Amino acid sequence: MIIILKPGAAQNEIQTVYEAVRRYNVIVQDIKGENTSMIGLAGDTSAIPREAIERFGCVERVMKVQEAYKLAGRRFHPGDTVVECRGAKLGGGRFAVMAGPCSVETEEQILSVAQEIKRAGASFLRGGAFKPRSSPYAFQGLGLDGLELLVIARQKTGLPIVTELMSAEHLDAFARDVDVIQIGARNMQNFSLLKEVGGLKKPVLLKRGLSSTIEELLMAAEYLMAGGCTDVMLCERGIRTFETATRNTLDLSAVPVLKEKTHLPVVVDPSHATGRWALVPSMALAAVASGADGLIIEVHNSPETALCDGAQSITPHVFRDLMAKIGKVLDALKEE
Ligand code: PEP
Ligand code: MN
Repeated sequence: MIIILKPGAAQNEIQTVYEAVRRYNVIVQDIKGENTSMIGLAGDTSAIPREAIERFGCVERVMKVQEAYKLAGRRFHPGDTVVECRGAKLGGGRFAVMAGPCSVETEEQILSVAQEIKRAGASFLRGGAFKPRSSPYAFQGLGLDGLELLVIARQKTGLPIVTELMSAEHLDAFARDVDVIQIGARNMQNFSLLKEVGGLKKPVLLKRGLSSTIEELLMAAEYLMAGGCTDVMLCERGIRTFETATRNTLDLSAVPVLKEKTHLPVVVDPSHATGRWALVPSMALAAVASGADGLIIEVHNSPETALCDGAQSITPHVFRDLMAKIGKVLDALKEE
């Protein structure tokens, strides 16, 4: 619902409108246009009596909004969201790269990769401690021990850490130790988990479900935002199609579509999208050219012996070369 205010309405009158709508337990947002001031209401607005609100002297009109993602959509929030985390910035023209192994394996491994990717210019360290594996017999991650190793890597490098939360059971540990909570593709529509994570009010990297539409991704972001989270980064990581040459099909047109529909930053994961390390650099560069705000890339110091996703992991050496090329694409885009 949008309440359009009369031009020049007095602040004390507007305040009475705020007080009236707050009683309905909805999210209230100021919207300042060039010539108009509005109040945006999100959440369950069905109990708000439209005619009664229109009787306030400072109210010009009340409009129902059909859009399902009021908080994630651009209508109420035209400017880009910039996510800030321990000095790193992503969104609104600030490009950033998240990199690291699929899973945290040992202290030596995570420290070596963290130092390498930092030197190459990455701004966030990724690494899974809880892994959503297709087979129950595959390596499931180090769990809380893995989180501890990520914290050590952060202490040594200063890089904020991004890692996946799979269960509300670990909410407290993540609230304490993790900078960016990753919601994996398989949990994108785990609505009870999204509600719990939204309440932590921490930055979230929300990955697109394997067979989810862009609309469904935005609705999942809306769950996080309705819970109180403002810093949601959306991640295109490839979707299921009939094609089997790559692990998934990277839907790069999702980037400009999302940029049109939402103010939230868009991150692309060329590693899970392709499943093949040799395809990662070209798809990463294409993602930058498509207007992505960031990338998340799997980097391993020894891909052949990796416990998870070695085939799609690039070495620190390949990562360094890629970072240099990313810089060139970004420069070319600035020259436009
Ligand atoms: C990951 O990032 O390691 C991961 C499991 O990703 P996704 O949820 O996109 O498959
Ligand atoms: Mn992986």
